[in-house]
Amino acid sequence: MTCRSKAAKVGGGLLLVALLAGIAGSAVKQKYSVHDKTRPHPPVATPAAQFGQPPSDAIILFNGKDLSQWRSDRGNGEAKWKIVDNDYVVVTPKAGSIHTQKVFGNCQLHVEWRTPEGVPAKVTDQNRSNSGVFLMGRYEIQVLDSYTDDNYKTNSTYADGQAAAIYGSHPPMVNATRKPGEWQTYDIAFLRPLFDEKGNVVRKARITVFHNGVCVQNNVEIEGTTTHKIKAKYTPHGEGPIGLQDHGNPIAFRNIWIRELPEQPYLIE
Ligand code: MG
Repeated sequence: MTCRSKAAKVGGGLLLVALLAGIAGSAVKQKYSVHDKTRPHPPVATPAAQFGQPPSDAIILFNGKDLSQWRSDRGNGEAKWKIVDNDYVVVTPKAGSIHTQKVFGNCQLHVEWRTPEGVPAKVTDQNRSNSGVFLMGRYEIQVLDSYTDDNYKTNSTYADGQAAAIYGSHPPMVNATRKPGEWQTYDIAFLRPLFDEKGNVVRKARITVFHNGVCVQNNVEIEGTTTHKIKAKYTPHGEGPIGLQDHGNPIAFRNIWIRELPEQPYLIE
């Protein structure tokens, strides 16, 4: 089950006429012949010494120390989840979902998360360690305890609601979920939707997800805002925040960083 973030409204209402015009213009300007020596080189992004750590051009959204870059969906006030050991933050059930103050469009997002150990077997389905990562405050990558091995009965839920699903539409291609109590990673590449001046979608959003290093969503085109038991559809919007869901379960998060990605002119020629 999902609770659509109120934060989805942040930055909303802005249509993208100017952006579309800019893209069209840049596409014309950036047509180069093969091996054209006048073609500008991309900027440098120095990779981190360790995989999973932010490269030089990343924006650190949470480094274990504080939630100063986050706000609560409840009244847009202070984010009141619990920080532990200057390392990670845990959802405080009923405190409300949280979202970044800064808004984003196209991006690469790294999130580490952990479901708790010791949850009774009788707690199943969407109640078993549920949270979620929201792109632009409205497109959810599900967080859930979907771990399975020979000794553990799979948490039964609908496929498009298990861990790493694009909630309500796309199950992951494989289940790469680790055990409760173990840290897991999402590495997400997101191409935002674009709308014309009438609010019609002219490019649907696309999502790629690596779960614990395993590609589970490969450039998937999605049909709209995450909802529960309703077919997704688009509502025009501008940039939006990254959201983390309070679904009533104490999920831990750490090492959250994002890279803002430019439009890629070759996609729209
Ligand atoms: Mg969820």
